Amino acid sequence: MTHPAQPKASHFINGEYVEDTAGTPIPVIYAATGEQIATVHAATPAIVEQALSTAKAAQKAWAKMTGTERGRILRRAADIMRERNHDLSVLETYDTGKPLQETLVADATSGADALEYFGGLAASLTGEHIPLGEDWVYTKREALGLCVGIGAWNYPTQIACWKGAPALACGNSMVFKPSETTPLCALKVAEILIEAGAPAGVFNVVQGMGEVGGALVTDPRVDKVSLTGSVPTGKKVYAAAAEGMKHVTMELGGKSPLIIFDDADIDNAVGGAINGNFYSSGQVCSNGTRVFVQKGIKEKFLARLAERTGNAILGDPMDEATSFGPMVTENQMNIVLGYIEKGKEEGARLICGGKRADMDGYFIEPTVFADVTDDMTIAREEIFGPVMSVLDFDTEEEVVARANDTEFGLSAGVFTKDFTRAHRVIGNLEAGSCFINSYNDAPVEAPFGGVKASGVGRENSKEAIKHFSQVKSVYVRMGDVEAAF
Ligand code: NAD
Repeated sequence: MTHPAQPKASHFINGEYVEDTAGTPIPVIYAATGEQIATVHAATPAIVEQALSTAKAAQKAWAKMTGTERGRILRRAADIMRERNHDLSVLETYDTGKPLQETLVADATSGADALEYFGGLAASLTGEHIPLGEDWVYTKREALGLCVGIGAWNYPTQIACWKGAPALACGNSMVFKPSETTPLCALKVAEILIEAGAPAGVFNVVQGMGEVGGALVTDPRVDKVSLTGSVPTGKKVYAAAAEGMKHVTMELGGKSPLIIFDDADIDNAVGGAINGNFYSSGQVCSNGTRVFVQKGIKEKFLARLAERTGNAILGDPMDEATSFGPMVTENQMNIVLGYIEKGKEEGARLICGGKRADMDGYFIEPTVFADVTDDMTIAREEIFGPVMSVLDFDTEEEVVARANDTEFGLSAGVFTKDFTRAHRVIGNLEAGSCFINSYNDAPVEAPFGGVKASGVGRENSKEAIKHFSQVKSVYVRMGDVEAAF
């Protein structure tokens, strides 16, 4: 019997599902059981061509609609997503393995927020009037044209919406390629947009590995590329986009610091560290995986952290009581287990977890290492799994310097009751998305993105509009033209 997660076809182009079984088969494995639940096929060159030419053809008419009309469609799509939140959350859980307890509140709901927010902004994308005596300049905010979105596997619905919603609000069309690991959810986003009234061809989904992503990025018809992925992929995609002088948004990896001063409320700080390391089983780019704890509260913090981490419920992700799911794939599980071994070998003190859970699926126990030093592999490389490194520090000056000593710069957090210090420390940290007495909140109203190797550009908020549109400036002369000859 066909599994309910199996989509009607692999791709969604020009308002309908499209199949081409000549493409490489991509198995979809449910991470909680290891069972294959669906198959899609990577896009062939013919499918890539169909998607790009369709999106190119649909864009001009879409941009000519009023912002109010475009916005209404996006907001209708948001309503449909919310109505179907339960089914979409179940699909997200099949796609990623994340527990339903999370997907019910963090995926389709976050996607709907983006569709609603950018739908609301669409009618207000205006330019300026710049008086110059009798003459004037006016500016227009115009669409970039055809945009490509490429997703990572941790938030397949959210990533499709965080890219699709601002792109469409600005009058662009999009071809979106989900991660080959989680190909299911973006198809639903495309389907819902059509149901909400989007013209066929403005949002298309094609499947495939890096090769298909590469074909999309290098196509001369493409004006912008927005990638969510790792730093190595980001460097390749950024370079390929530069060849064609295309716009880019790069949402890449991190190794973010979370700094806890000894005046902090311990339970809130522990809660922040748990949210910043174990949500989605640690598969979150902005995670605060280097937890710097001031020496005075170190042992108290570790004791409370171990106690609360022991309350994680590993189990069937479809059971709403489950609060901690598996790694997305067997491969990702093995990568993370490799880092855990490195932590042990390099002398970090294991506080809890530290191994694969004794159950079906790709579960790793939530793991905390203490006495981690700055040069250890687990403190330097992005693990993308449930492995928290706790490091000690004495002074503010010292911790800021150590926190900044990384190629990454996605996020940073600080817990302290001293508000002057909180703002000063955040001011000195090299990171794009920061938190004071909290961690990992990502409302659509707030800009999201990194500095240094963690990325270029911002998603969400009004900032995203700047990255999916460009300004045309028009000089208007009222008098005669003076010329030298
Ligand atoms: P990845 O870099 O392996 O793949 C990301 C996407 O890029 C996939 O769809 C992949 O098929 C595609 N791709 C790979 N090579 C390509 C190429 N040469 N040209 C075009 N496309 C190509 O990342 P992943 O393993 O899917 O995701 C995990 C990474 O993503 C982590 O580093 C994580 O930090 C990062 N991430 C960042 C954010 C953010 O918003 N900053 C969010 C989620 C994940």
